[in-house]
Amino acid sequence: MKTYRIATIPGDGIGKEVVPAGKRVLEAIAARSNDFGFEFEDFDWGGDYYRQHGVMMPADGLDAIRDKDAILFGSAGDPHIPDHVTLWGLRLKICQGFDQYANVRPTRILPGIEGPLKRCSPKDLDWVIVRENSEGEYSGVGGRAHQGHPIEVATDVSLMTRAGVERILRFAFRLAQSRPRKLLTVITKSNAQRHAMVMWDEIALEVSKEFPDVTWGKELVDAATARMVNRPASLDTLVATNLHADILSDLAAALAGSLGIAPTANLDPERRYPSMFEPIHGSAFDIMGKGLANPIGTFWSVVMMLEHLGERGAARALMTAIEHVTGDPTLHTGDLGGKATTAQVTEAVCALLASNSAVTSEAA
Ligand code: ATP
Repeated sequence: MKTYRIATIPGDGIGKEVVPAGKRVLEAIAARSNDFGFEFEDFDWGGDYYRQHGVMMPADGLDAIRDKDAILFGSAGDPHIPDHVTLWGLRLKICQGFDQYANVRPTRILPGIEGPLKRCSPKDLDWVIVRENSEGEYSGVGGRAHQGHPIEVATDVSLMTRAGVERILRFAFRLAQSRPRKLLTVITKSNAQRHAMVMWDEIALEVSKEFPDVTWGKELVDAATARMVNRPASLDTLVATNLHADILSDLAAALAGSLGIAPTANLDPERRYPSMFEPIHGSAFDIMGKGLANPIGTFWSVVMMLEHLGERGAARALMTAIEHVTGDPTLHTGDLGGKATTAQVTEAVCALLASNSAVTSEAA
């Protein structure tokens, strides 16, 4: 029997509620299987750790999780600590330290969920956004000088390497090729950003030649926002730079009904390091500790983790259970206009996984 070693990092705010819920669901998955199980190790890194130690995670933290099979992450963010400290001190340290260069964000309108687009039927919105996750606008290159003086200056340099662009575009073409529509939209801004984005476009054309069966086109990022709203069915797989995809994927999550549902995977496609799975929402301090957080974004992230581990049957079973639960309005949390609690949603998903009815046939 295979045992997957999972690092769990709840982080801050509602991360401390949704990660234990995700763990509970993984345990329910393991209980169904004779082939695999999970061994969890919890890490208390985040805002509270920062208050005690002055850092979000220990200097040798990456070594403690390097040999795990996957990481389940909650969120990093604390109203009393600057955002750039919480982000760079934990999440980005892991993403960059483990070269998780492909950030993958699927978006669908799940059964029972009403999106804000009146003219869009749920089947019109089925996207995967691939975000470059290692360089670009968030490379961390830049600095400040003359601080506190009238001539103060600050730069953030968007850094794009041929290797970095090539690998993310190749990943996106491959992903688009694996989906039924084989359709890729390369998001760009080469009209205004006339150096790196022009190289991005050139490399897209080069890489596209390796994928003759993929239909692809370019779209300016500003035009893409309107297209996502007005013609959602014209999109399938999208690939964009770190900043562009960061913004587009929040729009996508909102169009799919709630930030609380959306999942993401930070992948090292070469599998040199563990990949990390997390809901896209933040720490949501306004609702923390009340048992109100929607755990579906975490559960869908667990689906992505199971797919990455090669447990496709279990991934399908969990996705089916999630869709049964979202289809029942009495199991909607507050962000979806309902009254259900994190615990009720979690128990409903686990009960479906435990019963041999609903989710077995789809998982076969
Ligand atoms: P951070 O600073 O860590 O990014 P934030 O509180 O500014 O966090 P988010 O947590 O991403 O931003 O979400 C914004 C709001 O959406 C929250 O304040 C909360 O009300 C709601 N929200 C986000 N995630 C969830 C969830 N899983 N369940 C219910 N509501 C949510």
